[in-house]
Amino acid sequence: MRRLLIAGNWKMNKTVPEALSLVRELKKLVSDVNDRDILVCPPFTALYPVGKELKGSNILLGAQNMFYEEKGAFTGEISPIMLKDVGASYVILGHSERRHIFGETDDLINKKVISAAKHGLTPILCVGELLEERERGETEVVVERQVREGLKGLSRESEFVIAYEPVWAIGTGKTATPEQAQEVHKFIRGLLSEIFDSEKAKRVRILYGGSVKPENAKSLLEMSDIDGALVGGASLKAESFSKIVKFD
Ligand code: PEP
Repeated sequence: MRRLLIAGNWKMNKTVPEALSLVRELKKLVSDVNDRDILVCPPFTALYPVGKELKGSNILLGAQNMFYEEKGAFTGEISPIMLKDVGASYVILGHSERRHIFGETDDLINKKVISAAKHGLTPILCVGELLEERERGETEVVVERQVREGLKGLSRESEFVIAYEPVWAIGTGKTATPEQAQEVHKFIRGLLSEIFDSEKAKRVRILYGGSVKPENAKSLLEMSDIDGALVGGASLKAESFSKIVKFD
């Protein structure tokens, strides 16, 4: 009942010519895929040209962040209206790099989630524990707080995606085992059931992120509560990203 979503987070990589060359290659490699959603999230500077290149293709466009206001004196920020304007339909919010490098709080992330949904963008709310939190047995406490706070005030009708990304697995080459990931995904679905109801919880896609590669994609994506992947490093090459998209 949940359509798979394979999303690429390019982070602060790719100039416009590099971005165009990546999506041109990717378009060819995945042109035959129609049973799952494919999403690329380039840096802000490449959104418009990449969006133009993707018109009429089976690849969706997303951004990696946004501010919650529509416009005004917010130097250096990008609004949901601007993202819609360049053809984005998704936005990653609360990525661990935003939380830990840029100090984003649950409260700020929540404002962004609400604003994205209000403007017709599907938020991908990222949650995940640090290594020391996992070692202290606090994974569920941390993830529960991030999910509940991040979704506070969001209506049941709003479409959203959750990405579970254990911070210790991002960009480190260390992947959670499929069983470790499944356990947290199931826990998150249970939380969604409490926050909304079980029907809504069954429909929400929960992605796994953290060193997903062509070699480990299948074992992760076969787990019952893992509905897709948020891919960093391996999304920067068309060949490896397309192999993850076509994992089975
Ligand atoms: C990410 O940036 O969301 C991510 C999961 O990165 P990587 O795949 O490189 O670990």
